[in-house]
Amino acid sequence: MAPAPVSGWSGIYAAFVASHPGPSYRVWDTGNYGNTTSDGSGTVVTVSIAPRTPVDILYSVMAHEYGHYRQNRIYGPGLGYAVRAVGSVDLDHAADCFALAHGATWVNYGCTSSPAVQGILARMGG
Ligand SMILES: [Zn+2]
Repeated sequence: MAPAPVSGWSGIYAAFVASHPGPSYRVWDTGNYGNTTSDGSGTVVTVSIAPRTPVDILYSVMAHEYGHYRQNRIYGPGLGYAVRAVGSVDLDHAADCFALAHGATWVNYGCTSSPAVQGILARMGG
């Protein structure tokens, strides 16, 4: 039996969650379309997606946040740690590179070719 077609906001959201295990996902407005945080130990990484995120960029936003999840896994617990290690701007650029490589059609920061950004991306596993 063919899988059900993915459509609509909740369909795209559910399909992404099912195909990208690891973080804990929630529909929650943190002030941005997407936000990724972790607990102090780094054991639980939470991806929050605002319900007001436009459906046409929902997948792209989730792919960017999943990139932050991957960054969390390589830089240790807490995005604060990662920010101190490499800088928040480079983390966002690298998350956009990751998202574009995984099917995103919209990014907010842009993927750059700077050695710092590409170095982070390489550590993220492409
Ligand atoms: Zn970001």
